[in-house]
Amino acid sequence: MEKEKCSERVWIGYHEQPCSRYAVRDGYCKQHHPDEVAKRNKISDEKWKAKMYNKPMSVAMRKIKALEKENMELRDQLQILKG
Ligand SMILES: [Zn+2]
Repeated sequence: MEKEKCSERVWIGYHEQPCSRYAVRDGYCKQHHPDEVAKRNKISDEKWKAKMYNKPMSVAMRKIKALEKENMELRDQLQILKG
């Protein structure tokens, strides 16, 4: 009996073809099992979020937002002092 192949289809250049690896779990190879794919997506998603969060522009935007808030608060206090 022939070993079961992974049921995922992959793109090789411009051609879509079945994954050539043997299925090890639920009809998928180790790399294409939905659990593994989800795990990888989650990791790359988190990496991407961290990268975005630490981008100079994001850092600057957060600083601007904080300063704008402080500015508003100081303006309110000034209004109170002025009466
Ligand atoms: Zn596969």
